[in-house]
This record gives sequence, C-alpha cells and structure tokens, in this order.
Amino acid sequence: MSGRLEFVLRTVMSARLSVKHKSRQPGRLWVALTFGDWAKMGGRAMADEPEFMCDAMLGGLARWLRAAGYSAWFDVHARDGDLVRRALEEGRWLLTSDAGILERYAVSEGLVRCLFVPHGLSTIHQLAHVMGVLKLNPKNSRCMDCGGELAEVPLTEVATEIPEKVKETCAHFYRCAGCGKVYWHGTHWNSIQTRLRRAQKLAGAEAKSDGPHDRQSSSP
Ligand SMILES: [Zn+2]
Repeated sequence: MSGRLEFVLRTVMSARLSVKHKSRQPGRLWVALTFGDWAKMGGRAMADEPEFMCDAMLGGLARWLRAAGYSAWFDVHARDGDLVRRALEEGRWLLTSDAGILERYAVSEGLVRCLFVPHGLSTIHQLAHVMGVLKLNPKNSRCMDCGGELAEVPLTEVATEIPEKVKETCAHFYRCAGCGKVYWHGTHWNSIQTRLRRAQKLAGAEAKSDGPHDRQSSSP
C-alpha cells in the first residue's frame, strides 16, 4: 500500500465518511477525498467561524487569538504529525512558522488549511497577519489561558476571588467556562483591548494586500 493511500485510508476511517463516498475501485479511494468533500462529509464540518491550531512556536499567538475571541488550540509538546492530524479532524486552520509542516501531505495537498506565519514578527503583528489575511474582526474575548468562553457573573459570585480595590472600581465580572478563572474590566483588560484594536488596525493594511486562501504555503 502506498504511503499516500495509507494516509487517506487512515483519515477516511477517522472521519467516518459515508460508504457512498468510498469508491469500489481498488486504489481509487483517495479520489473521493477532495477538500470540499472533507469539509462537507468529514468527522466535523468546517466551523462557520475559523478555529485554529497553533504550532509550538506560536503559543503567544494562540493566547491573543483567544483574546480576540477565537478558539486556538496550543500544546508546546505537540508533534507536527499530531498538529496536522488534529487540524484535519477538527477542521481547524493550522498556523505555523515551521516550513517543514508545509511539506506534510495533508497540508501540501490542501486537506488541511494552513497559514504560514512569517518569522520575526511580534505577537501582535502575528495576530494582525492572521486577522488581515483571513479578514477577521475581534469578537468577545475568550480566556487567554485555556480558550474557554467568558460568561458575565454578579459580583457576589466572585467576591472572595478578587481584590478589594477591584470590587470598588469595576462593575463587570466574568468567569471562564473552561478553567474558572475570573476576569474583570480593569486596567489589564483595557490594555488587552487596546492591543487588539492596534492589531485590527495593522490587519487593515494586510487585508488590502492579500485575501483568504485554503493554503498559504509560501516559504519564509
Ligand atoms: Zn480559562
């Protein structure tokens, strides 16, 4: 069995594609697995809002994508193969600064949508690059630590978890649905929002010069 066919067979099994999409002709199964088929028939359809998978070099970007309201998975110990496989299975955009990942079959063939993040950018410029190329706008912030959604809660619910000064100066409090961390609209929050607006402004220039692609596989 060829390496490519073996890969596709494994991904088909992973996605539980319907039998009608499997060719009866031996060795032709891969023909059915176009990106469009995958998006429509895969184990998980592509989300309306993009979700992301960040490689080991882009942990800071993952945190800021979450602050911008997007789901961004990151594990510094994840191996390249795991990143590609999980991006494929979950329909996530793979964000990478590793040119080697672009050579992976699922990426080079467009099965995984991948955006190369150039080296040498600050985290905010990385965020601006992603937002600009994919034409994204900031949404309601998620927890920067785990990516969980933030739900507003009354002061009484978090009174024992926040400093006294915060109780006197802040009116809105939020708890992460994932890890339970408490956030409030204070100076740190405002600083984050200021940086997000800066990234959005920087992204404006990026958006004018580029558009969304299934694969941004240019080398650094
Ligand atoms: Zn959290």
